[in-house]
Order: sequence, then structure tokens, then C-alpha cells
Amino acid sequence: MSGSITRLHANQADFEQRLSQLLAWDAVSDESVVGVVDEVIAAVKERGDQALLDYTNRFDRTNANAMTELVMDKVQIAQSLSMISAEERAALETAAHRIRSYHEHQKQDSWSYTEADGTVLGQQITALEKVGVYVPGGKAAYPSTVLMDVIPAKVAGVEQIVMTSPTPDGEINHIVLAAAAIAGVDQVITVGGAQAIAALAYGTDTIPQVDKIVGPGNIFVATAKRQVFGQVGLDMIAGPSEILVICDGQTDPDWIAMDLFSQAEHDEDAQSILVCPDADFIDQVEASIKKLLPTLEREAIASASLYNRGALIQVEDMAQAIAVCNRIAPEHLELSVEDPEALLPQIKHAGAIFMGRYTSEALGDYCAGPNHVLPTSGTVRFSSPLGVYDFQKRSSIIHCSEEGASELGKVASVLARGESLTAHARSAEYRIKK
Ligand code: NAD
Repeated sequence: MSGSITRLHANQADFEQRLSQLLAWDAVSDESVVGVVDEVIAAVKERGDQALLDYTNRFDRTNANAMTELVMDKVQIAQSLSMISAEERAALETAAHRIRSYHEHQKQDSWSYTEADGTVLGQQITALEKVGVYVPGGKAAYPSTVLMDVIPAKVAGVEQIVMTSPTPDGEINHIVLAAAAIAGVDQVITVGGAQAIAALAYGTDTIPQVDKIVGPGNIFVATAKRQVFGQVGLDMIAGPSEILVICDGQTDPDWIAMDLFSQAEHDEDAQSILVCPDADFIDQVEASIKKLLPTLEREAIASASLYNRGALIQVEDMAQAIAVCNRIAPEHLELSVEDPEALLPQIKHAGAIFMGRYTSEALGDYCAGPNHVLPTSGTVRFSSPLGVYDFQKRSSIIHCSEEGASELGKVASVLARGESLTAHARSAEYRIKK
């Protein structure tokens, strides 16, 4: 695909307007998708396993006669470990170990404190009981997503983890199942799309109803997640992937081009942006992009992404680079500069921050340790990477002493009567010492 990547200067008069156009992405799926998804959800609620079977045979071109053919237990999942190469198994185990170690640091503990009159206040942390993990499988397989979704849930102490993933034409992907075995999935259901999300949300004879569904997927999956929210908890509705690279002009331009491609090759709507104060360096990166694009296996996808949604933005200085970054609020941010520590405190919004020239975003995607499931489309302004905290809940604890109940009762009584809730007031007043 021929074309050119958008070049902007942050000082130009219409910069904000052009940036807004570049960032715009419609998160709302179209009416026809909503129609199909609503029909699928209603059918799964009504006909359960039979609907799952019918849709799976239709959309994934399988020939299953019963749901039992689409369910795998732990023993069957573990068999895939012997179907992959020693090198693949070692890479999965190394990545899993690093992801587990990182997420162990996120675990929250219960806490409490005691007031002078003996009243104890605190917070009890509990894990979710049942979690459903959706692993996309329509066009590609994502073993890394299995590790990133399942390991934080295991660290949190989730009791039961059910994974669903389609197997188009009935072809099992052993590296995905091996990742499920290593991460500790209890059950794999080879069902995908909206029907998998509906089954996890409402339960069927073979699929347990879960408390929360996590994991990315295509438009049918994302729309179904939106429709079942409230019935179950969700991680997020993820949009296309994004990378913003801030470079001081001293990194090899080929490295920067390839880092931009690493997101652009995901899909045509992915967004890759370079921000740099050096116009000559931007020219060099543009030349590297032209030189290296034809060497990519996914050239068509990467070039569509770069030419439609990518940009090379020149700034006055690093202060302006940071301002542009905070405006964009990217999913992934690379600080490809000499002293990234100096910039870090000024970054307000970024899902994951890759520090220095040697830290490519790709390492974070697979094995550095932090989670690769990150908020997109600017939602990092109010949300965070998937983590152990997404699988933990908090319960407030109040344990009043006799003295504490008497003192608090006076306060509660006044406030309750102010709200005309006299049963509240009298309940508190019973405990006020005469
Ligand atoms: P998928 O598993 O999400 O979707 C496949 C399912 O879609 C099929 O099983 C089928 O049930 C359903 N489907 C397909 N066409 C349909 C139709 N016409 N009507 C009804 N249902 C239909 O797999 P995919 O399609 O490969 O999509 C994966 C998506 O997940 C991609 O967009 C990819 O970029 C994204 N992804 C994101 C991340 C992340 O971390 N953000 C990671 C991996 C993948």
C-alpha cells in the first residue's frame, strides 16, 4: 500500500483540531452488530447449550454433536504441554514466572485500626469466586493473553477460572492450551464470540455462570460484553491498540520505525505516533518507515494503520512533548530518551511506560512482567492496567464497642431524623447509653 504518514507540528494553529480528528475512534458498534449480538444472547438465555452448539457449528465451522465435545478439563488441557516444542514451553514458563512475580506485588491485604473507645474499623479483601476469561481465536491465537488474563486472577485467589476461546474449523491451538495449563485454568470451552460471553454471563448446563468476564475480542465479543454488563462484572471494553513514542532524536531511527510497526501490525485501526523535537530525525524515521514497511509480513495491515491513523509530530521541546502525551493519554508510551527518569514524574496519563532506548514495547507485550491488557482510546485518564486488584473485592468492616455505639448513635440519630428516617434514628438511639 502506498501513502504517507501524517506530519504535524504542535505549534501550528490547527494542531488541536487535527489531533482530535486523528484520535477520533468510534467505540460504539454499529446497529447490525448489536442486532446479531442481542439475538445470540437471547438464544443462549433461552436454549442454553443447544444454542451454543448451533452458533459454534455455524460461526466457527465445527461439527460438534454435544457440548461435551467442546469442553476440556484440567487433564485434557495439560495434554497440550506435550504437543508444543521445548523452546515454546520454556518461553511460556519464563513469561508466566515473570508475570506472576510482578503481580504478586499488587496483592492487597485486609487492614483495620482500633479507635480509643475500642471500636474497630477496617477493610476485608476477598477474591472473586468465578471468573470467565475470553481468549480471542477467530483470526489469530494469543497465548500471551492467556497468561496476562489468568495469572493475576490466580494471584488474587480466584477459585474457579473458565476460559472460552473459539477453535475455527475445530482446529485446536496447542500453545494457547499449554498457556492455559501453565497459568492454571480449570476448564476450557472451545466456544467464541457473543455466544461465549452470553454463556459466561448467564450460565448453561455445561458452562458455569461467572462473576466477572475479562479479555479482549472482536466487535461481536466487545458488543456482547457491553450488553451483559451489570449481570456480570467486566474488565474493560478495549479499543484498537496504541503506541506513542517520545524520542530525543538520539535513538536508531530503524528501532523507532519498528516500535511504531509493533502496534500498527495489530490491526488497521491501531494507532502509532512519534513525538520528537528534531525535524531531521523525524525525516530519518519517515525514511526508515518507507524502507522497512515492505519487509513486514503484515505490511498491508501496518501500512493501513500508519497511513490512516499514525502521525509524526514535531514539538518545540520535551515540555511540549509531555503536554502532547498527556493530551493523547496513550495505552503504551515509550520514552526513548537519554534520561527517562527526568520525564517520568510529568507523565499523567499512560497505560504502560517503557523507559529508555532499550525498552521496546514488545517486551512488555510478552514477558517483562507487567500486564499487557491496558486501557485504550484515552480511557487511561480514569482507568488502569488489568491487575490483581481487578479480581479482588473490598468489604468494609465496622465493629463498635458499647461506648462507640453510644457516641456514634447520637450523631446518627441527628442525621437520620434530618432525613426523616425514624427507624434508622431509633435503631441508633436504642444503643445510646442512658
Ligand atoms: P474473536 O475470538 O474475538 O472472535 C471470533 C468469534 O467471532 C467467532 O467465534 C464468532 O463466534 C464471532 N463471529 C465472527 N463473525 C461473526 C458474524 N458474522 N456474526 C456473529 N458472530 C461472528 O477473534 P478475532 O475475530 O480474531 O478477533 C480478535 C480481536 O481481539 C482482534 O480485534 C484483536 O486485535 C483483539 N485482541 C486484542 C488484544 C488486547 O490485548 N487488546 C489481544 C489480542 C487480541
